[in-house]
Amino acid sequence: RAKAAGRGTFRHFEPGMDEQLQRRRHLEMDLRQALVRGELSLHYQPLVNLQSGRTSGYEALLRWTHPERGSVPPADFIALAEETGLIGDIGRFVLERACADAAAWPEDTKVAVNLSPAQFRNGGILATVMRALERTGLQPSRLELEITESLLMEKSESALATLRALRALGVGISMDDFGTGYSSLSYLRSFPFTKIKIDKSFIRDLHTSPDSQAIVSAIVSLGRSLKMTVIAEGIEDPADLALLLAEGCVEGQGYLFSVPLPLDQLAPHEGDAADAEDAAA
Ligand code: C2E
Ligand code: MG
Ligand code: MG
Ligand code: MG
Repeated sequence: RAKAAGRGTFRHFEPGMDEQLQRRRHLEMDLRQALVRGELSLHYQPLVNLQSGRTSGYEALLRWTHPERGSVPPADFIALAEETGLIGDIGRFVLERACADAAAWPEDTKVAVNLSPAQFRNGGILATVMRALERTGLQPSRLELEITESLLMEKSESALATLRALRALGVGISMDDFGTGYSSLSYLRSFPFTKIKIDKSFIRDLHTSPDSQAIVSAIVSLGRSLKMTVIAEGIEDPADLALLLAEGCVEGQGYLFSVPLPLDQLAPHEGDAADAEDAAA
């Protein structure tokens, strides 16, 4: 599998390169098994309405518990999954799991799922989403799909058509990590976004950086005029929350509210299906 192993990325050899390649091959083999062995799971991080403090939904974040390495962060294996094509199976798993979990939450609670550009390239993402909704009975309006600017940078007509078809199902489309890519602002008109997520790099230093404040302020008013919900990711500091509230940012997400948690550690919802079961037991 020479193709999967390197794609001619390495032009010359350096000491340690063999080792790196070995490590990567091992990780790839392990990732192939991870799904079957049940090592992949989802954590959920609350999306909070900043005005009311109420949780309006959760972002599903993939976790891999490797038998020897322990917890492997998505940054260390999502790219590998994309390059090896494993993202297809993994993406289906994430969508089905997230929709099934969300179907048991209160009716106004949404779930956000990250999609990678590779899932659009190989087609089938529309069918995958439709099947996940059908199988779990989740209302389409309760599912939000998060994509990044890297998808738009491919300038693919088919990605746009797929996004429109997904939007036509009634699912929300969020522009993740907004402000970090190199795309032109004009895509905000042509793509059917319902939500803009301000990248955490602008939030992290909000209360100390007038530049970040100016950028965040501009994105919030942009969202308001385009009738898209604006959410800030990576809120850690109460001072940043205060500034976001003052700007009129609608939603937020970050360690200040909660780290991503396994399903069974989420704060119990009032009138939740699980509560009803407990009461009945
Ligand atoms: P993302 O979609 O932008 O997700 C937000 C990331 O910020 C998550 O990292 C989350 O744990 C982290 N985060 C949340 N609040 C804070 C905070 O207050 N401070 C800081 N410093 N970080 C915070 P995580 O879970 O490591 O995921 C990293 C990226 O991996 C995600 O970025 C997303 O692009 C990708 N990813 C995660 N799960 C999936 C998945 O199921 N499918 C795909 N295709 N990508 C995924
Ligand atoms: Mg995301
Ligand atoms: Mg993000
Ligand atoms: Mg991010």
